[in-house]
Amino acid sequence: MIVDLHAHSHFSDGTLSPRDLVKRAHAQGVNVLALTDHDETKGIKEAQIAAQQLGIHLVPGVEISCTWGSQTIHVLGLNVDPSGERLAKGLAELRLKRISRAKHIAEKLEKHGVENAWEGTIKLAGTEAVTRTHFARFLIQQGHAKEMGQVFKRWLGRKGKGFVSMQWVDLEEAVAWIKDAGGSAVIAHPARYKMTTTRLKLLLSDFADYGGVGLEVACSSHSPPEKIRMAELANRFKLYASAGSDFHEPDSEFAELGKRITLPESVTPIWSTWEIPAVTNRCVNE
Ligand code: AMP
Ligand code: MN
Ligand code: MN
Ligand code: MN
Repeated sequence: MIVDLHAHSHFSDGTLSPRDLVKRAHAQGVNVLALTDHDETKGIKEAQIAAQQLGIHLVPGVEISCTWGSQTIHVLGLNVDPSGERLAKGLAELRLKRISRAKHIAEKLEKHGVENAWEGTIKLAGTEAVTRTHFARFLIQQGHAKEMGQVFKRWLGRKGKGFVSMQWVDLEEAVAWIKDAGGSAVIAHPARYKMTTTRLKLLLSDFADYGGVGLEVACSSHSPPEKIRMAELANRFKLYASAGSDFHEPDSEFAELGKRITLPESVTPIWSTWEIPAVTNRCVNE
C-alpha cells in the first residue's frame, strides 16, 4: 500500500487542481493521499469526489503555519473536518496574515527594483493562501532569478531582500484547532528546521504535551540518515510516524507523489490506527 500524507494543490502553492492532483496520485499507484494545502481546506471537497471515482482513500488535511519560540514550524492536520469552527476561523485569520505579509514582501521587492511585484504575484497565485512560492515563481518568470534555490537565497529566504519575518499562530493553539476538528497533529519535515538535537527534542516534548501525535519521518526533503534520526526521535517521544512527499508540481526534481517516502520498520505508521477501506486504486476505466 502506498501512502502519501502531504501534498499541495492550486488552493495553496501547488500547481495542480485537487482533481488533477488525485489523478496524478492514482497514476503513481498511491492508495492513500492527504491533501494538505497551506492554511487552506478549500480543495478537499473536489479532491474527495475525484478520489472516490478513482478508488483512492483521500485524507482531508491541512498544513498550518505556526510559530514556536520565534521559529516557523509547519504542522499537518490529518483527518480534519474542514467545517470545524475553530479550525476554519483560525485558518481564515492566517490567510489574512498571508495577504498582509504579501503586501510587505511586494513593497520590499519593488524597492529593490522588481516591478509589478504585488499585482503580478497575486494574479499568478489566484488564491488567498499567497505563499513565498508564488513570489518565487513570479521572480523567476520576470528573470530576477534562475531557479527556486537561487530565488529563495537571494530574495525570499531569511537573508533575502524581500524577507518579512512573521508571527503565525502559536504551535499550541494550532494543535488545539486540529484536535477540535477531530484530526491528528503531525510535525511536518522536521529535518528542514535545521535545529540542534537538543532543540528538536524540546520541540517534540512541547508538541507531545500540547496533544500532537505524529512526526513526518519520511519526506522528500529528508536524506536517508535524517529519516533514521527522525524515526529514532518519533519512537523516543512516542509519536506515530507519517510519510509525505510534499508534492507541489510535476517535474520537480525534489518531490513526486508517493515516491521516496517509505518508513523504516522500527516506527508505527500513523495510518495503522485508521480505518481505510480495503478497495483502493481502481482501474481508471472502471
Ligand atoms: P510560506 O509559507 O509562504 O513562507 O512559503 C513556504 C513555502 O515556500 C514552502 O512550503 C515551500 O513550498 C517553499 N519553499 C521554502 N523554501 C524553499 C526553497 N529553498 N526552495 C524551494 N521552495 C521553498
Ligand atoms: Mn509549499
Ligand atoms: Mn512545509
Ligand atoms: Mn508542504
